[in-house]
Amino acid sequence: MIIGVLALQGDTREHLHALAELDVIARPVRRPDELDSVDALVIPGGESTAMSKLALEFGMTEPLRKRIAGGMPTYGSCAGMIMLAGTILDGRADQVPFGGIDMTVRRNAFGRQVDSFEGSVDISDIDGGPFSAVFIRAPWVEEVGPDVRVLGRVTAGPAAGRIVAVRQQHLLATAFHPELTGDLRVHRYFVEMAREAGQTTEG
Ligand code: GLN
Repeated sequence: MIIGVLALQGDTREHLHALAELDVIARPVRRPDELDSVDALVIPGGESTAMSKLALEFGMTEPLRKRIAGGMPTYGSCAGMIMLAGTILDGRADQVPFGGIDMTVRRNAFGRQVDSFEGSVDISDIDGGPFSAVFIRAPWVEEVGPDVRVLGRVTAGPAAGRIVAVRQQHLLATAFHPELTGDLRVHRYFVEMAREAGQTTEG
């Protein structure tokens, strides 16, 4: 099982480290031929407008859209969540997401005063108690289509109830950054998703 981490922009290295602790081969993906060689992909946090621009420049937008639509297990955190959205609010006019998840996300949704904060999030598919979730100029999900499962919401504070973790079949997204806290449960959950998808296609 080879899991790629998109390496155009953002905290690629932290995701590679998290995946290296699990029993998979993890490698950076920058070019279409590198994308061809992975079974699953993580899209890191960073800056989604810059990521969108670089993806277009590197000829990655179309190959990514195709693989994602074609069933490649993909996990996006923060900017990665934005890139997996069908619709972006407060994006840049020329920003092109990869799409895949039938949702509307709002960029920088938590407001200027709270650029970064840590909040508690329960993820319904993942045992072991709530996550100490790190949000950095994070998006939230404003609307989801019928095929999207809401996995987690902010539990307290002014943003309580906001959707910050979702899954649509082979696609997973969180508004927070589990790669920064050493809590490997989201990555482990994603690796499981990727393994199950691999078994279905092989079998
Ligand atoms: N605000 C960033 C964006 O719009 C996301 C921030 C992050 O990934 N930590 O892409």
